[in-house]
Amino acid sequence: MPDTDICILGAGPGGATAALHLAQAGHRCLLLDRATFPRDKVCGDALSGKVLSELRRLGPELPARLAAEPIQLPSWGIDFYAPNGRRLAVPFKPKYNPATDRSAGHISKRLHFDNFLIEEVRRRPEIDFRENTEVARHEQLPDGRWRLFGPDDVEITTSRLLLVANGAQSSFARQVGGHALEPAHHCAGLRAYYRGVQGLHPDNFIELHFIREFLPGYLWVFPLPNGEANVGVGMLTEAVSKKKVKLRERLDEILQTHPALKERFATAERLGPVRGFGLPLGSKRRPLSGPGYLLLGDAGSLIDPFSGEGISHAMVSGRHAADWAGRALAAQNFSAGFLLGYDQAVYNRLWQELRLSRAMQRLLGYPWLFNFVANRAANNPTLAETISNMFLDLDLRERLRQPSFYVKLLMGR
Ligand SMILES: Cc1cc2nc3c(=O)[nH]c(=O)nc-3n(C[C@H](O)[C@H](O)[C@H](O)COP(=O)(O)OP(=O)(O)OC[C@H]3O[C@@H](n4cnc5c(N)ncnc54)[C@H](O)[C@@H]3O)c2cc1C
Repeated sequence: MPDTDICILGAGPGGATAALHLAQAGHRCLLLDRATFPRDKVCGDALSGKVLSELRRLGPELPARLAAEPIQLPSWGIDFYAPNGRRLAVPFKPKYNPATDRSAGHISKRLHFDNFLIEEVRRRPEIDFRENTEVARHEQLPDGRWRLFGPDDVEITTSRLLLVANGAQSSFARQVGGHALEPAHHCAGLRAYYRGVQGLHPDNFIELHFIREFLPGYLWVFPLPNGEANVGVGMLTEAVSKKKVKLRERLDEILQTHPALKERFATAERLGPVRGFGLPLGSKRRPLSGPGYLLLGDAGSLIDPFSGEGISHAMVSGRHAADWAGRALAAQNFSAGFLLGYDQAVYNRLWQELRLSRAMQRLLGYPWLFNFVANRAANNPTLAETISNMFLDLDLRERLRQPSFYVKLLMGR
């Protein structure tokens, strides 16, 4: 393989987005992935509105093209189930018409969505995309370039700048970036596919269940095309070890015994194995760059600590990584000091949200407060609408952090 200025390690949403933005700016790059696409990735498969706006930046026609694909379902909102079992329906838009409006979110198996992006990658001659190419080892040469080696220790390439987008288990992020797994900032997740789950929302609302005995963990049920559903559980790794939770057993037990779920799963069929994977959370600000490299997506620990959303954050970091790679090339400056601009750009966009989600994650430690908000919202359309708008409006979300929000709720205002 050729030596290159820019090499991207990993072709998930982070790496693919970076490659596409680089191509649009006229830069060539080498994109490596150990998998052959289409490939699966353990995930909840929910694509938020932020994914759509990142797609739009890659090509104005892409959101409509995705919406026209049979690989996805449009989703119109979220059904939260509070610890007391109360359902709080939160549409993504306060008023919507599925017949005429475009949905603010989608659900699509990663097998298909990631391949949707890879099809764009394959169209671009500027991107030298090599699948089935595992990078097992890296070393930095005295002149700052990176040398990458395969499992047989054969050299793959040498590159001036490395965009590291190889996901939650990135050894580069651990060894070079210093991102150790911290149980307080890391979540364990399990996912299984089902067919025939009863009682899914007619407008494909995604379901988040906060079950009292399972807190601070949560369970999700996300509808998929062809009558399938993505069902899974997530819990802070710290809580899993402290409480010695066996996630697989708990998932089965909840689906078989929980009063609101057991009937709905009584005749459902599990498709394939239950698979687990880690979620490195962005609840702590970590360095995202160093001499000659940038960390993207899960390799940069950028997952939302409340919702578990990481696809859009990988795409946001991919966009900024492409921008800073272009700047580094133009200035011929690959130093740690110069590349710090990438960290600033990513956190300028994401830090406020990540901080708010960290605060909401803490709410899970106060089930009574959660119940209280859900009870009030059930009888108060204005509050339900406010919560709905919180998904779009950060200033509104900021209110959740303020005691005055709860005082007003208590007073019924
Ligand atoms: C259980 C679970 C549920 C989730 N639910 C959601 C959800 O509903 N919505 C959401 O937005 N996010 C969700 N996430 C988070 C989301 O899956 C990730 O944030 C997202 O995949 C990050 O994208 P990425 O491009 O950084 O990494 P990845 O998608 O992990 O891509 C990394 C790529 O690197 C390749 N690679 C890895 N190592 C090497 C190597 N050594 N050599 C070559 N290639 C390599 C892999 O093959 C892979 O293609 C969930 C995560 C989990 C675990």
